Amino acid sequence: MEAFQSRKTWAEINLEAIGHNISQMKQKLPAATNIMAVVKADGYGHGSVPVAKAAIKAGVSALAVALLEEAIVLRQASIDVPILVLGWVAPEDAPVAAAYNITLTAFQTEWLERVETLQMDGTVRIHMKLDTGMGRIGMRHEQEIQSFFAVLKDCPHIQLTGVFTHFATADAADLMYFHQQEKCFEQMLAYVRRNWSTPLTVHVGNSAASIRFPEQMHNYIRFGISMYGLYPSKYVKAEKQIDLQPAFSLHSRLVHVKKVAAGSSISYGGTYIAKQDEWIGTIPIGYGDGWQRRMQGFEVLVSGKRMPIVGRVCMDQTMIKLDQPYEIGTKVTLIGRQNNACIEMDEVADYLGTINYEVPCLISKRVPRIYV
Ligand SMILES: *Cc1c(COP(=O)(O)O)cnc(C)c1O
Repeated sequence: MEAFQSRKTWAEINLEAIGHNISQMKQKLPAATNIMAVVKADGYGHGSVPVAKAAIKAGVSALAVALLEEAIVLRQASIDVPILVLGWVAPEDAPVAAAYNITLTAFQTEWLERVETLQMDGTVRIHMKLDTGMGRIGMRHEQEIQSFFAVLKDCPHIQLTGVFTHFATADAADLMYFHQQEKCFEQMLAYVRRNWSTPLTVHVGNSAASIRFPEQMHNYIRFGISMYGLYPSKYVKAEKQIDLQPAFSLHSRLVHVKKVAAGSSISYGGTYIAKQDEWIGTIPIGYGDGWQRRMQGFEVLVSGKRMPIVGRVCMDQTMIKLDQPYEIGTKVTLIGRQNNACIEMDEVADYLGTINYEVPCLISKRVPRIYV
């Protein structure tokens, strides 16, 4: 049963857009390169289970998440494709991963040793992570790989099935560091292949690398932000190498409309004073929904026109200045398209001084996701 919902504020998730973005990406990739859909952080705030199911329908053959618990949520929703956890998981939890047939990321010899001390049914699959310049997690030197293999060969409960790295600047204007990382990875991969004989799945590319260098993506790409219809950066966007459709839009409805006299003060702190008689509308969304206080002064769409946010954004409500009286219940779009007008995620991100990735993650669980 759907949770009871009285408030008319919602995020609309267009699953057809997810399918469109995947097929656009597929067209660019060689036939031998598969797509792993990245649905960490509840599918970048879009909802991991519906997005994962739509992505599988659109032809992706694996999923990636950041946490083991995120992977279990997918398994419990009857999703049975391979799932890779990209982040560090405590070795004590490897038996749980094994039980759910979830692949973990490993890069520490002590992790391997600890896992082998545990009671485990069957084996846990791992992909080894190489740090070629991201500086986050992974092995940075051949020596480390050598020690890793030396321990791993005596680990009957751990099965190495893949190797990967992550780029720090694949979305940048200057690709020098990216190419340096690429070269470093190829060298380390050659070392891995010389010293380990079982077949390994190889993957390197996030959205930016995959869109820019689709021919160099090995067995899989890890397709995140652009699956959701957003460009990894303004540089990638400007290159127009792929046509994406944003899946996320954010809407509310007017709950109150009033005419205020010139000189009237709006919201906490009285930071907005009406310069003339003005129509002011109230919408039931605020920073308690992740619509941040800093959005004061930004705009929303009503009847296909931009209207300014006036006064402070409250926890649960926001006021907007209207060009005329509108009926209670009139739709207000905060992110996305309305008639021929559009407020792009990138515009909201710029206003907040952040990147598009962060914005749908900020929109809290209090805002229901409606799938269309
Ligand atoms: C989040 C993440 C991705 C996806 O990156 P996008 O830029 O969203 O495509 C890929 N790989 C790793 C290791 C990640 O953490």
